[in-house]
Amino acid sequence: MIKTVAVIGAGTMGNGIAHVFAQYGFSVNLVDVQQATLEKALTTIRKNAERQAAKGTITAEVQEAIQNNLQTFTSIQQGVKQAQLVIEAATENKQIKQEIFRQLDEYASGGTILATNTSSISITAIATATRRPEKVIGMHFMNPVPVMKLVEIINGYSTSKEVTDTIVALGKQLGKIPCVVNDYPGFIANRILMPMINEAIHSLHEGVAGMEEIDTIMKLGMAHPMGPLQLADFIGLDVCLSILKVLHEGLGNPKYAPCPLLVNMVTAGKLGIKTGEGFYRYTAGSREITPAK
Ligand code: NAD
Repeated sequence: MIKTVAVIGAGTMGNGIAHVFAQYGFSVNLVDVQQATLEKALTTIRKNAERQAAKGTITAEVQEAIQNNLQTFTSIQQGVKQAQLVIEAATENKQIKQEIFRQLDEYASGGTILATNTSSISITAIATATRRPEKVIGMHFMNPVPVMKLVEIINGYSTSKEVTDTIVALGKQLGKIPCVVNDYPGFIANRILMPMINEAIHSLHEGVAGMEEIDTIMKLGMAHPMGPLQLADFIGLDVCLSILKVLHEGLGNPKYAPCPLLVNMVTAGKLGIKTGEGFYRYTAGSREITPAK
């Protein structure tokens, strides 16, 4: 029975995952290497819970419970001790994740399920850092986690059926719609989404249309809530680039090669909303966005 969940990494996704588990009554241990990130995550969760309460999507009691169910740690060892489930949502880097999983395997109890929120790194490769590959699984939430209904569940080569069934049931308990897929580069969500974003960047790079035209065509023409360039800013251009590299290397097809404009923007530190500028410029505290160039 899962009662305590440890979330490793308190960035964009980690704070959303912690929020949702706390909202549904789990005790949540949020772990990050940076104390400042943990403090920022708690503030974000408090503000998002206030917004949910103001909209009437959660009661005042649940709003209070979200705060009470959260504890923060800077040590993985301390954070995972009591957990029956760990969800890793740290930086999208295979070496970092494998090192985290080595520690999770060492410090979490033998029965604990080890999940990763990776967007694209092989679950099977992450599981090799542990002595329990049958208990390693992908639990890929979408951003923003409290709002988005989908959770893509990824079976690694050795993931047991029992673990998959537990995680599917847990996803439903969190009010999400779980979809189970197999462990191949980009899984399903990003294998289909990232080539679309990359093609939008190529279209801009080749001067086929301006960024607002590209986004408006895809938004209104395909009934998408936002255009692909704005979505890339929202996801993080560095995250998009690393996923495209995984698709390119893992599937060996040149159609996945990242557009040189994307590579340039990441090199220049224009990563989207998180740095205040990507394809668009974002002013802190404002909903106004303007094209960056
Ligand atoms: P982020 O950069 O916002 O946060 C990552 C956090 O991990 C940082 O706070 C960092 O301090 C922390 N971290 C790094 N090494 C650590 C360690 N050893 N121990 C503890 N914490 C550590 O990244 P993010 O956008 O939240 O992405 C996290 C994961 O979720 C990635 O695997 C990413 O691919 C995946 N993901 C991202 C999105 C998205 O839209 N951003 C969507 C789905 C999945």
